[in-house]
This record gives sequence, C-alpha cells and structure tokens, in this order.
Amino acid sequence: MTTLNELNAADSAAFVQTLHGIYEHSPWIPERAAAQRPFASLAALKLALQAAVDEASEDEQLGLIRSHPELAGKAAIAGELTAESTSEQAKSGLNACSASEYATLHKLNADYNARFGFPFILAVKGPDGNGLTRGEIIATFTRRLKQQRAGELAECLRQIHRIAELRLNELLGVKLEYGNVIMGWLDIIGEWSDAPDNLTCAYLTRAHQRTASQLADWMRACGMEVQIDAVGNVVGRYAAATPDAKTLITGSHYDTVRDGGKYDGRLGILLPMAIVRRLHAKGERLPYHLEIIGFAEEEGVRFKSTFLGSNAVTGRFDPSLLDRHDDAGVSMREALIGAGHDPAAIPAIARNRADVLGFVEVHIEQGPVLLESGLPLGVVTAIAGSSRYLVELTGLASHAGTTPMTMRRDAAAAAAEIILMVEQRCLLGASLVGTVGQLEVPGGSVNVIPGHCKLSLDIRAADDAVRLAAVDDIFQAIAQICAQRQVEAAITEIVSAKAAPCAPRLMDQLGAAIERASLPRFDLPSGAGHDAMAMAALTNIAMLFVRCGNGGISHNRLETMTADDAEIAARVMLDFFRNYAA
Ligand SMILES: [Zn+2]
Repeated sequence: MTTLNELNAADSAAFVQTLHGIYEHSPWIPERAAAQRPFASLAALKLALQAAVDEASEDEQLGLIRSHPELAGKAAIAGELTAESTSEQAKSGLNACSASEYATLHKLNADYNARFGFPFILAVKGPDGNGLTRGEIIATFTRRLKQQRAGELAECLRQIHRIAELRLNELLGVKLEYGNVIMGWLDIIGEWSDAPDNLTCAYLTRAHQRTASQLADWMRACGMEVQIDAVGNVVGRYAAATPDAKTLITGSHYDTVRDGGKYDGRLGILLPMAIVRRLHAKGERLPYHLEIIGFAEEEGVRFKSTFLGSNAVTGRFDPSLLDRHDDAGVSMREALIGAGHDPAAIPAIARNRADVLGFVEVHIEQGPVLLESGLPLGVVTAIAGSSRYLVELTGLASHAGTTPMTMRRDAAAAAAEIILMVEQRCLLGASLVGTVGQLEVPGGSVNVIPGHCKLSLDIRAADDAVRLAAVDDIFQAIAQICAQRQVEAAITEIVSAKAAPCAPRLMDQLGAAIERASLPRFDLPSGAGHDAMAMAALTNIAMLFVRCGNGGISHNRLETMTADDAEIAARVMLDFFRNYAA
C-alpha cells in the first residue's frame, strides 16, 4: 500500500509511476500535478489531478477518453484490458453478460461512438463502489446516448474523475468512516415505499411510519435519546456534558415526493447520525446539545401542505390544516390519530428561541452547479424567495375557419407570448428563475380559437429585490401583450415567500471547515425550498450542499450521489460541530 506522505516525498518519476494506473494510459496527468506537491490531503491530490484534466486541451481530453475500453467490448472479451478495468468491469458483472445483453451493449457502443466520436465512459463501480447492475448500466447508456455532445464530453470526464477517485482509494487503502454507513442506511429506507415500483413516502403512510420508527431505532443505537413528536418528527438528542447548555439543531425531512430519490432530505438526517455514532463511540461530547430532527413532512404530497414538521418546531403549525383531506378523503387529524399521535399536542412542540443556537441543514444540491464546478460541497448563501401566480386570460372564442388572423382575440396565443417573455426576462438576473409549469385551454376544441387560457407563474431568486423587480416587469409586459391582443388578464397571487438568507457567521464557520478539508469554499444560492427556510422563523440558519450526480437531477429516481462525497461532507460537518463558536 502507498501513503500520501510517500507520494509527497517521492521524486517526480516515482510519483508518476505510482499513479500511472489512476488515469487510464495517461501519465501526463500525474506529471502535470506533480509540481503542486506536497498535498495536504487526499482531497487536495484528487483536485490537482482533476485540474490537470480540466485545464488540458480538448484534444488531450479526447485522447484520455479514447484510451478507455468499451464496456463489455471486444477488448474485454479478448482479455486485453488493464488490470484496473478488468476488475471494475467484473465487479458489475459485465464479464457475465447474457447473449442479448452483449448484443445490446455492442449496439449501444456502436451508436454512441458514431454519434459522439468517442467511447461511452461510466464508472461502473457506481455511487457506493459496490458496482452498478447490468440493467442500471444499460439504462444509463441508453439515456446518455440522447444527450448533446458538449454535455456528454463533460460527463465522460466526470466519470473518469470518479473512476480515478475509486482507484486512488484502492491504491492508498482508504477506508470510508462514514460514507458507506450513510449510503447503506439510505438504501435500506429507500426501499420502503407507498408504491410498488418507486420511492414514494408520503406523510403518515405505513412506509412513512416504518421509516420514522427505523430512524428512531438507529438514532438510539448511535447513542441519542429519541422521541417521535406529535407531528411525526423523529427527534434525536445527543446531550452536552453540561445539562444547561443550549441546543444546536440539524436535520432534514424523511418524506419524499412521488417517485422521488432516496437522498433528498434523508441525507441530512443520516449524515449527522453517522457523526454522532462516532462521537458516542469515542465518548466525545460537544459543548452544546446536538439535536437531529427527521422532519415528518416537507414535500406536501399527501395534504398539499408543505413544511409541516419544521413549522411545528418553530410554533407556526397551522391547526386549520388538520381538517384538510387527502385524495382518499382521510383528514390530517384522522391520519395523525391513526398513527398514534395526539394532534392537540402539536403546539407544545414549538421551541423556545432562547434555547436554540441555530439550525444547520445538510442537503443534496438538487441541481448541477457543484457537479459542473467539480466540487463535492458548497455553502448555501440564501434560500430563494418565490412568487407564484395563477394568470387567467380571457379573449374571444370564435370559429377557427372563418375568423381572419388579424381579427382574433386568441387567449392561448397571448399565453404563448407571455411564456417566452418570462423566459427572456428571467435570463437577466443572478439566481433568477421563472417557470410556467401549468398551461391549460379549458374546454378547448380543435376548431375553436381559444377564448380562455390559464397559466401558472413561478418566479424565484435568492435576492428579494431581484425577484420583485422581475415580477414588476413581467406584470407590465403581460399588460402590454394583452392590450395588443385585446385579451384580458386576471392575476391571482398564490404564494409570496421571502428569501431566507443564511447567517454569515454560520456560513463562515462552514466555509472554514471546508477549507480545513483542503477544498475551496464555494458559495451558491438554493433555488429549492428546504426545512431551513421554515426554521429561519426560529433561529439563524445555514446549509451545506452536497454534489448530485446524473446532471444534478432530483425529485426523480435518477437522483444520485457518491459515498466519497458523503464521507467528505461528514468529515466537514464533524469539524464544524467541534469548532462551532456561538
Ligand atoms: Zn428536500
């Protein structure tokens, strides 16, 4: 086994020789990174190797990609792969393909090469290093064949970095202290679902209650005192050495959207649990009580009411929601009582703000920014505020055959113009995004000019002034478009939520912990809402984002992240907890 110290002390030739197998047939990569030694950590070495690739010319990058073998290709069958590739392909069972799987992969390899001019690269050892299944490999291959060339080139390089990361772990004998435990837990509760063939865990269903009781059992085994509160939050407490200490809260939600991913929310519960497990094993206490809350509900799937868990903790649970019904006609009150909870006890969940030091949430990014920056972690600056509206347009329904083009009052054509205007306007602001997600011509017919059209409008930005300026401009433009087309617009506000800025003091402490792990601090806003947004009503908040794979996709079964990123996130959070200063 090699050590980082040996790599730092070796002469350049020996350094390059030791790392020759990390990037397939490409010694120029360790050659270019060699001068940056000594590396303070494995993370720093990985970043230096990645930078050598990212700064190389496109020809060199293509050369690197083309030096990789096809998956289950001719070279694999003929036994002509490098030792590393042979063992990786064998780990996913690619050496045991059926005849039809070989045929499928052969065709995919040929189609991919013809479309992009380089071979398909996939780290077949997968997110936890245990190997993707052949089915997963073929599904990924099929999906990526439809991408654009530039995006696919970047994805191949990212997969090569992931392959290199796994090879480095092997070379240096790296054992993950947290990553595999966290991924293993995520896999177990990721199987418990309201639906037979995807992950759906809605508020107070059987799968949801089973997940809550498993989280409670695990928290106890990690050394925490645990209770499930009246709204269904699983609350674990790792007590400080001194009983009168204040409490730092972390956590996230364990409910999911329909057909969601297994990391969304749950990572933010399981990752700090793995940290407490280690603290407890070492008998180490923190100078404050650490609470991990698995929030019962954030996504709003069952009762169309979001942040139930975190709102209860801040004392903002709206009791009128208890009379809301799900699609099967069950009220929230009935669901709570059925699950053994006492709805009357919900107000008592509210925390006293004087006892709470702050709330820090770990969450997958649910977007591509960290992935494209080549960084595992980011510090969230603010959770975007959002404005949502329903726009109803009224023109005049008339005959599609007899009404001349110049005499129409077409509500759908006005909607189309509005959608494109929203897209153009929202290109103009930092972190500003605008979406028309619902569009309807009620009672429309193929031969009638649309007299009515309904559309939704969702505008978000991390900076409230940026968002409100965009809303103003969009309203003016809607008025202009409608005046020109003799269409009337009625706009109803559905949501107006202010941005929740993160506390600079907590951001700096998270950033310092990231830098102590020899990673650069990288700040980014969150376009999605999170429990931290609700918790901001009670205390100072901060968030640590962890990189997602698969183009940053989330709220989708393709959501993914790696055990190595979970590991570095856990190490950074442990360092943050140990060094936390009020
Ligand atoms: Zn979430």
